[in-house]
Amino acid sequence: TVYYQPQMSIRDKKILGVEALVRWIHPVEGMIPPDKFIPVAEMSNLIHEIGLYVLNQACTEFSTLTKAEIFKGTLAINFSSRQLQFNDIKESLYKVLLRSDLDPSKLEIEVTETLLMQNPEKISLILNELRELGITIAIDDFGTGYSSLSYLNTLPIDKLKIDKSFIDYITTDEGNKSICKAIIAMGNSLNIKTIAEGVETKEQMDLVESLGCDEIQGYYFAKPMDIEGLRKFILENKVQE
Ligand code: C2E
Ligand code: CA
Ligand code: CA
Repeated sequence: TVYYQPQMSIRDKKILGVEALVRWIHPVEGMIPPDKFIPVAEMSNLIHEIGLYVLNQACTEFSTLTKAEIFKGTLAINFSSRQLQFNDIKESLYKVLLRSDLDPSKLEIEVTETLLMQNPEKISLILNELRELGITIAIDDFGTGYSSLSYLNTLPIDKLKIDKSFIDYITTDEGNKSICKAIIAMGNSLNIKTIAEGVETKEQMDLVESLGCDEIQGYYFAKPMDIEGLRKFILENKVQE
């Protein structure tokens, strides 16, 4: 099943988007987190089917919210290395968007920094093709891979997601704070949005806000929830105009 975690604009405290996060509801084991089965699926072709399932399910469910005018924000979906490199990726995405009647500008693809740097030339070609459809691109777990900074200038990137490991100690460790500050400053000057991942406290939010970060995602604002939970959350919190 697919859960959704809201992403909030720090400035006006409104939901700008959600990230789709897959879960396996096992009849005996209960809810199995993606870390337990995505890496296994990656080793087999199952990642193809799971990826398509998540894409279809998330776009279809999410589009009910946009069509009912409950939500105007974006839907972010995680793509693994193998998924991104399937030959028909652009075609598949296009079909899913058509079928679910979702505006491509509402869809954001998250790829990790590590994946991006495995083969920057090739990945950048693929991302550029997806961008031609109107889809936006976010770099996940930013700061943990080994980015060649010069690529940030040439790759088609709309958003940097600052990895949770920096946010965890941002209020207690000067080094982590400096790294966040540098990432945010770089994003601002390259015109790339920044979002802090895994924000759990008000102190963490206030600090990233003071550094000029655009958005937060984390338990402080909202945990991942199913589509019904998300619908209620949006309506009850009146978190968008
Ligand atoms: P990720 O993309 O970095 O997703 C963020 C993870 O951090 C999610 O874990 C989310 O539930 C968790 N999180 C968010 N805010 C907080 C917080 O404030 N505190 C803490 N402790 N955790 C927080 P989740 O859902 O277990 O997903 C783990 C990873 O599995 C994701 O990391 C992503 O890499 C992968 N994944 C999830 N769904 C998919 C999918 O559909 N396709 C692919 N390829 N990978 C997926
Ligand atoms: Ca992600
Ligand atoms: Ca992440």
